[in-house]
Amino acid sequence: MPDIQPRPGDLSSCLRDWSGPTPVLVRSGGTSSRSSDPTLWSLDLRTHCRELQLSDDGCRVRVGAGVTMAELQGHLSPAGRSLPTGLSGLPGAGYLLTGGISPLSRNQGLAIDRILALEGVWGDGTPLSLTAEQSTSADGHASDAWRGLLGAAPFLAVVSAIELSTTPRQPLHIARALVSPETLAEWIQRAEDWPDGLSLQWFWAEQIEILLVAIEADEASVQAWAACLPHLARLPGALVEQIDGIDVLPRFGSLIRSPHRGGPVSTEVLGLLAPAWGMATPALINAAREVMAQRPDPGCALASQQLGGATARVPSAATSFVHRQALWKPWITAAWPVGDPAARQRSLAWLMQLRNQLQPHCPGVHLAQLHDHLPWHGWELEAAFGDWLPGLRRLKEQHDRHQLLPGL
Ligand SMILES: Cc1cc2nc3c(=O)[nH]c(=O)nc-3n(C[C@H](O)[C@H](O)[C@H](O)COP(=O)(O)OP(=O)(O)OC[C@H]3O[C@@H](n4cnc5c(N)ncnc54)[C@H](O)[C@@H]3O)c2cc1C
Repeated sequence: MPDIQPRPGDLSSCLRDWSGPTPVLVRSGGTSSRSSDPTLWSLDLRTHCRELQLSDDGCRVRVGAGVTMAELQGHLSPAGRSLPTGLSGLPGAGYLLTGGISPLSRNQGLAIDRILALEGVWGDGTPLSLTAEQSTSADGHASDAWRGLLGAAPFLAVVSAIELSTTPRQPLHIARALVSPETLAEWIQRAEDWPDGLSLQWFWAEQIEILLVAIEADEASVQAWAACLPHLARLPGALVEQIDGIDVLPRFGSLIRSPHRGGPVSTEVLGLLAPAWGMATPALINAAREVMAQRPDPGCALASQQLGGATARVPSAATSFVHRQALWKPWITAAWPVGDPAARQRSLAWLMQLRNQLQPHCPGVHLAQLHDHLPWHGWELEAAFGDWLPGLRRLKEQHDRHQLLPGL
C-alpha cells in the first residue's frame, strides 16, 4: 500500500475518517520492521513533521517526529547541547517515545525521562497536547495519559512533535575491543560495579565486540575507566579514543560486522530487560554461546546495553517503562534474506530458542520494536508492562476505541 504523508494538522481528520485496513502503521525514522507492511497503510511523518526549535538558552528543544536522532544532534551540537541518544543516529521519534536507552542513560536517564511536552492526536483522532508540568502532581504522580504516552505511545496515539530538556554536550572516552565469551562474562561482572558515568555495551555475531563509554567530566567514572585500561590493553583489536560527544560515536559493532553481504535483509528484533546477573553471568553466557553457534544467518546477533544509575532513580509508576531496576538490555536480532519465508522461519525459531535460554535471567521486555504481527506479541506485552498493562488497556479503550493503532 502507498504511504500517506500527513501534515501535523491533517492527522486528526485522517484518523477520524479512517476507512482503510487496520492497524494503521506510523513511520518516524522507519528503522523498525513494523513501520511498513505491504498490506497496510503507513502514516509517514518524515516529510512534514520536521520541526526543530532550540530555546534561546539551549535547555529545551522541540522536535518534529520525522526528524532522525542524527539530525536532532546535528541541530544541538553547534549550541554545545545534546541528548542521550542511542547507538545509532538513524532512528526517529520511535526512539524517543519507546524509552530511548543511551550509553549515557546511567548518568542522564532514558529519552522518555527528558520529555517535557507531547503533541499529536490520540488513536481516535482527538488532538493531544500535554506537558509534563500539567500532567504531574507536586508529589511526582503522573496522570495515566502522560504515563501511557511515555513508553507506550505507539499503541495509543500518533505523536507529531516532542519537547525535551537538553544537556551539555560532553566529551567522552570510548574503547572498543574483541573478546571471547569468557572474557565477556568478566567484563559484564566488572561493569555491574561501575559508577553511573561509565557503561558497557557488547555486540555478539561471528565474534564479540565490547564498547565502553565514559563521561570525561565525571571523576568517579574516569577513575573506573583508568582501572579498565590495563585489561583493555590485553585485548585484540583494542581501540581507545576520545570523542567530542555521543553524537559522534562510531558505528556499534563496526569492528566485527562485515560491510557487504549478498542482498537486502529483513530483521526482527526482540529487546529484553534484566537485573544484575552477578555470579550467574558465566553460566548465562555459556548458554547463549550454544545457541549463538547455531546462528542460521550471518545477520543474527545478540547484543546488550547497560542501564542502572539514573534510569533506576525514576519510579516505576512514572512512565510505561516499568522495569526501572533493570541493569541490562540484551536484544536478539533475527535476520534473513528479503522474501525467503523458509529462512525467515528458521531465523525466528532461532530467536525464540535464544530467548528461551536467556529468559530465566531476563524477565522483562523493552518494547522498542512492535510485534503485533507475530505470535509472541501477547507474551511481550505482559513482559513489557506487567501490572500496568490493564491501565494501558483502559487508556486504549478511552483514546483508540476503534483500535486503529497496534493492539494492546
Ligand atoms: C541501528 C539501530 C540502533 C538502535 N539503537 C538503539 C539504542 O541505542 N537504544 C534504544 O533504546 N533503541 C535503539 N534502537 C531501537 C529503536 O530506538 C527503536 O526500534 C525505535 O522504535 C525506532 O525508531 P523509529 O523512529 O525508526 O521508529 P519507526 O520504525 O518509524 O517506528 C517504530 C514503531 O513506533 C511507532 N511510532 C513511530 N513513530 C511514532 C509516533 N510519532 N507516534 C506514535 N507511534 C510511533 C510505530 O508504530 C512503529 O511501530 C536502535 C535501532 C536501530 C535500527
